[in-house]
Amino acid sequence: MKPSTPLAIDSSLLNAAADRVVRRCDTMARHSETADFLTRTFCSDAMKSAHAELRTWMEAAGMECRLDAVGNLIGESHSTQPSPTYDGPRDVFMIGSHVDTVVNAGKFDGTMGALLGLGVVEVVTEAKAKLPFDIDVVAFSEEEGVRFGFPFIGSLGIAGHFNPGDFDRLDQDGVTMRDALKQFGGNPDDLSSASYRSGANGRNLIGFMEAHLEQSTRLEQNGSPVGVVSAIAGQTRASIVLSGVAGHAGTVLHDQRKDALAAAAKLILDIEELGQTTDGLFATIGSISASPGLSNVICSDVNLRLDLRHESDAVREKAFKTIDLMIRELKRTRGIAGRIHDARHSPAVPMDPVLSQCLEDAIGESGSVPQRLVSGAGHDTMIMAEAAPSCMLFLRCRDGISHHPDEFVAPEDIYEALKVMTQATLKVAQTHSQKSAAAASTSAT
Ligand SMILES: [Zn+2]
Repeated sequence: MKPSTPLAIDSSLLNAAADRVVRRCDTMARHSETADFLTRTFCSDAMKSAHAELRTWMEAAGMECRLDAVGNLIGESHSTQPSPTYDGPRDVFMIGSHVDTVVNAGKFDGTMGALLGLGVVEVVTEAKAKLPFDIDVVAFSEEEGVRFGFPFIGSLGIAGHFNPGDFDRLDQDGVTMRDALKQFGGNPDDLSSASYRSGANGRNLIGFMEAHLEQSTRLEQNGSPVGVVSAIAGQTRASIVLSGVAGHAGTVLHDQRKDALAAAAKLILDIEELGQTTDGLFATIGSISASPGLSNVICSDVNLRLDLRHESDAVREKAFKTIDLMIRELKRTRGIAGRIHDARHSPAVPMDPVLSQCLEDAIGESGSVPQRLVSGAGHDTMIMAEAAPSCMLFLRCRDGISHHPDEFVAPEDIYEALKVMTQATLKVAQTHSQKSAAAASTSAT
């Protein structure tokens, strides 16, 4: 099959589709568990009605919709099948994001990315562009982890990495994830049917693309509507325990104290300074508890929670060692015994260079200078990257605000993102066709 991939999409098609994305973000925000603000959690009634809404738009765009085993809503576009007689696995390029929200959420986080995926399909269909793969649009069921304290349920299912033992997790009302899914119409007993991994279920996933608001201010500061994610930062989470000696606040002389809370104050500021002085490092103590917790008793024990993030695993590991040394130093300077425990390290996830280049080229062609940036937050793309080449586009968000009702992405930035994603998809199509042609000529010789 010879693909025809017109590289100039009519701007009126893009305009109309971008307007729909903006309006649909408003409409989706009405599907909430609460009347006063937006909350839409995994397998809730609000999610059910949001799916029904999304389904009507997907079907109007000629897509076939299904709810998968783990509660993802997937719209399949079959109009791009290579030939009616072809019966091998479908080559699929997947675009989407999550449609669950935090409590009291904004209307763009996640949902906008799923709607932009649908927008790409609408534009490609209306422009009658022939692609050498199907586009599946995914609305992931759960990314925020609100209901079961466990995120990425949807993408883990699609990537073939969901552990069935997690179906036993309970929500606050004692309902298991398994029962919540069954009641919602999912099928936890047929988990493998959700997988797109390695040609499973007749699907050959050739790539994944997610658009998401940036949740920071780098694009805003640079005056860029969109940017290309280079990697999702690696992360270390750990607990720190500091042990001193309790004593009378009115009698123990200062040069004889072993005050764990004063030591913690120094440590927290030193860790902050490490973050400020190491390029690209985010170093945070987000939680502290002190005991015995009385105003007239010198503190004997402190527990801290540490969060470290960086694009480079080597830089993050070095920072972790530096913090370990800072804690040991407290023994010498303040007589405080300290240790790190329960450290969990997640490596950085680099984005696919070929797909990311398609996004960059599309941004360059639209007249902007492509900006690359690291995502400090985790996203479904991080999980999907284990199953297929993956890329991510960030959209500028006002004042970096997210997880808040004031979250805002300008309509003109949504237009820009849709244009870049559509052009990038056409570039992916060209690359894929060239690869297939090269493979065919090699096998013929
Ligand atoms: Zn999100």
